[in-house]
Order: sequence, then C-alpha cells, then structure tokens
Amino acid sequence: MNTSVEFMALADAGEAELASHRLLLRAGMIRKTAAGLYSYLPLAWRSLRKIEEVIREEMEAIGAQEMLVPMVTPGELWHDSGRWEKYGPELMRMEDRHGREFCLGPTHEETFTDLVRNELRSYKQLPVTLYQIQDKFRDEMRPRFGLMRGREFIMKDAYSFDADVEGMQRTYAEQKDAYARICERCGLRALPVVADSGQIGGDTSVEFMALADAGEAELVWCDCGFAADTEAATAGITVVEGEAGELAKVHTPGVGTIEDLAAFLDVPASATRKALALVSGEGKPVVVFVPGDHEMNDVKAEHAFGEFHLMTDEEIEHYGLVKGFIGPVGLPEDVEAFADQSLRQSVWWTVGANECDYHLVHAQPGRDFQITDDHWVDVVTAQEGDACPRCGKPLHGARGIEVSQVFQLGTKYSEAMGATFMDEDGKEKPFQMGCYGIGVSRTLQAVVEQHYDEHGICWPVCVAPYEVEIVPLDVKGEVRDVAERIACEAVAAGLEVVVDDRKERAGVKFADADLMGFPYQVVLGRRGVKSGTAEVKNRATGERVDVALDEVATWLANAIIPQRA
Ligand code: ATP
Ligand code: MG
Repeated sequence: MNTSVEFMALADAGEAELASHRLLLRAGMIRKTAAGLYSYLPLAWRSLRKIEEVIREEMEAIGAQEMLVPMVTPGELWHDSGRWEKYGPELMRMEDRHGREFCLGPTHEETFTDLVRNELRSYKQLPVTLYQIQDKFRDEMRPRFGLMRGREFIMKDAYSFDADVEGMQRTYAEQKDAYARICERCGLRALPVVADSGQIGGDTSVEFMALADAGEAELVWCDCGFAADTEAATAGITVVEGEAGELAKVHTPGVGTIEDLAAFLDVPASATRKALALVSGEGKPVVVFVPGDHEMNDVKAEHAFGEFHLMTDEEIEHYGLVKGFIGPVGLPEDVEAFADQSLRQSVWWTVGANECDYHLVHAQPGRDFQITDDHWVDVVTAQEGDACPRCGKPLHGARGIEVSQVFQLGTKYSEAMGATFMDEDGKEKPFQMGCYGIGVSRTLQAVVEQHYDEHGICWPVCVAPYEVEIVPLDVKGEVRDVAERIACEAVAAGLEVVVDDRKERAGVKFADADLMGFPYQVVLGRRGVKSGTAEVKNRATGERVDVALDEVATWLANAIIPQRA
C-alpha cells in the first residue's frame, strides 16, 4: 500500500502564460525536457491513466478494438497516400542507416489503411473500428502552453472501416456520441462544433471544444444548439447599407484603413466595404470585397482561391492597384473582382476609388461595376452578433480548446492507397473510412484550465491524481497514528489516498494541498484528535465539516464514489 508521496519539489513556473500550464508545473505534475517535450511526473501520469480508462470504456462500449502500431512510420506509406510532400515541416522525417525514409507519426491514417488493406478482404468482415493510445510527434512551429501544444503528445486515434456510406455515417455518429460522453466524464464543459460543413452536407467533421477564455480556437454558438468554428460557420451577416445616391468621389486624404474611413464619413465600419488584394493559387490577381466589420478567413479563402497569398506592396503596385484605396469601380482589367456572398443583398457600397486619397460613395453593383455570378464566395469569419444559420438569432462568441475531433473521411485514403474489399455484389470497393482523435495530454491540461482558483487546481474526482489528501499537522505521536489509521481505512474503502507526512508548518501544508487540489482534504490537529474529530474540506467548494474520526473513511467513500467517472 502506498499512502504517502514524497512531494516533488514544487517548481517555479517561470514564464508560463496559461494558468493551467503554471499550475501543472507548480504542483509538480509535469516538467519540460525541451521545447514541446514534457515529462509526465507521477501525479500527472495517474490522471492521464484515468482519462485513458474513460476512453477505453467508451470505445469498448461501441465495439472499437484497441491495438498499437509503431510510432515510426515508413515514408513509403506516406508516398502512397500523397502526404509525404503535402504535410509540411510538422512531419518529422528521417532516414535509417540504409537510407530508407521514415517519419514520426503525427497521425496514423496511412498505417491503419495499410494494415487493413492487407488483412480485410470481404464485406462480411466489416465494419471494423481500431484504435490506439500512443505518443504522436508533430514538429510544431510554435510549441507552447505546456501540454496544450506540445511536439510529442499523447493521442487516442481511431480509424473505422465500413462497406458503405450509411455504415460510415452510423459509425461516425457512434464515435461522436462517445466523444461527448468522454468529455463529460472527464469533467469538461465542451461543445461539439461543426469544423467543416463539407461537400456532402450535414456535418462531416466535428471538433469538441472545451470552453475556456484562454483557448486558441474561436467559435460561435446559439441558444438553439448550433455551434461552429468561426472558420467553418457560414453565418448570416447583417449588411449595413451605405447611403443611396449618385456615384460620387470623395476626397479622403490619408484615410487608408476601414477605421479611418468610417470615422471620416461618420458611418459604422459595417457600412463600408473592405478590399483584399491577393494572388490566387493559379497565380491570378484578385480583389475580394468583404463587409468592413468582418475579416477574411484564410481557411475559407483557400477553398475559394486555392493556395493564395495576400499581395505584397510590390505586387499591388505591379498590378496597378493603389494600396488603401482599392475599389470595384475601374479596377485594372486583368484584376478580377470577387465579393463575399453576404454582400449580395447590398445595393450601396462605400469603397476605394482606385486613386490615392479618394473613395467612392453610392457605388452600385450592376450599375457602376460587376461581380459576376460565380464570383460571390463565402470567405469571411463568422463573429458574435451575426445571425445563426439555423434559427436566425444573434450568435454568441466563445473561445475553446480543441480536445478532440471526429471526421468522415470517405474513400480519401482507401482510394489513394488501393485499400479495397469484395462487396456483396462481387465488386471490389474502397473502404468507407472515418477517423477520430482525442488529445489525451491536452485533455488533462484542459481539465485544469476549467478547474482552478486563486489557490491552485480543483480536480474533479473523475480525473484527480488522488481523491483524498490527509494532512496531519503533527507527524509524530497520536496525530500521526490517527492519520495512518484513517488512511488505511480510506484505502480499504477503495479510495485513493495520500498523506502529507512532511515535517512542514501547517501553513505550508495547507497551501500545497490547495495547490495540488485533490478533491478532499482531511485535516488532523492535536485538538481535533483529542476531541475525536477531523476537519474534512471540499477543495472545490471550500466547504468544511467536522467528522468523527471513526466515520471519516465512510463519510469520504459516500461523498467520492458517486462522483467517479
Ligand atoms: P490543432 O488545430 O490544435 O493544431 P489539429 O486539428 O491539428 O489540432 P488533430 O489532427 O485533429 O489536431 O488531432 C487530434 C487531437 O490531437 C486534437 O483534437 C488535439 O486534442 C490533439 N493535438 C493535436 N495537436 C496537438 C499538439 N501539438 N499538442 C497536444 N495535443 C495536440
Ligand atoms: Mg483537429
């Protein structure tokens, strides 16, 4: 029985920016080995194993089978799928002593597709879902925030193989439901958000976002249940109209930004039109107009224009455009005009005049310039206040931490890699696949990001490293004996217990207990022990009760066991 831990020296959190990162360092849970590489110390490892157990139970419940493939992946498979070239520098590539190419798996679609193409031959063997819990490696450009964006991190990744689209959608729906339960059981408040509205319609990918102000992802959600990544949402944008009137040129000296223009004309930014000059993936010069109060979204713009880049100052000049004063009327001939679809309803545009220090007011599409039918595109980032695409009410904004994501892959990998099976009708068909990833180590930190106060972590019981900390204020004599007895009783009652048996002052022990944040603290002092009571404190609520020494273990078991995941 191990009821006492030698507490790891509590570290100084240095320059860690995120509360959860600081707390994991200070509470002796993780240590940085190098940028993006962390050691999980004993306390963190216990929590991680609990998260993994929740995942295993939920996967078992829907018939997914656990296995393990090598973390190192042959380059050959990545050439097969076409991703060796596409994946970019996050893929850690290497050669072995014979000059053969390998990479550290950042995800394992290739390995699993290869495995299944060699093993499964018939529709009779389908559907199959396989998963693993394993370290992944991504050479992230900016590893940061501790476990949130590591280079080596723990992921659970699952891959499903079905015979047809309906089957894949069923499997996807089961995984999505399981993912919601996993978040809940780990104590996370998370929203499933549409990540990619997909060509097939419906949701083909959903991300689970743990709500947190410190999250890197921006999302919009609505009381009706709609939620989406701002990059994926096509929200209803209320277009604020410029004024009606005859086309007129206005002298706007030095007014080069939307803010300046709105102030100069005394109109809201939304009544102006922002112009973005870019070079499309095909190398064509393009100007895109969006509502003045919205941003163009890179992901959406890539759908519309391929691998585009914003024009440099030299390119702007080269194509005959005037920086800060670009507009749709009188654009140079070889520059094509596009506009966000939200502007389709707009009749009066306030725009640049393609002349230094001049803008146009009352410009009208159809009369003064043309946006051809196929040049209305969906390119802006949805934002708070836009209309919900489902019910029309104003959307709320929030930030989140992406803890997991589910995808319908269809035949993307099976076709590229020639993974087929013999269907009922005797025809060879590619597998219909799905993939499902959970950031296990990121989940751990997301739990902390949602459960802390000014004194430290407040672990929910389900993933706490330990459930109870016994804090004897005396480490000799009767108090120590009682502490040991209660610890034994609590362990016998099935609880996970540590005893702070360090020779430290009471104040130090209390502060450390709060910092490490195990859900219940049992404080034993000389006076209490004499009168036959212990003080039991609920870490999260701060509530304290005196419990008779003989009843402490039962009291704790009654409080804790129902809260387990
Ligand atoms: P992100 O957009 O945050 O970079 P991703 O969408 O590229 O993540 P996926 O390929 O969907 O990540 O991987 C599945 C899960 O793995 C993510 O939902 C996330 O929880 C986790 N994950 C991805 N990258 C990292 C990382 N660098 N550090 C820790 N966890 C990560
Ligand atoms: Mg993702």
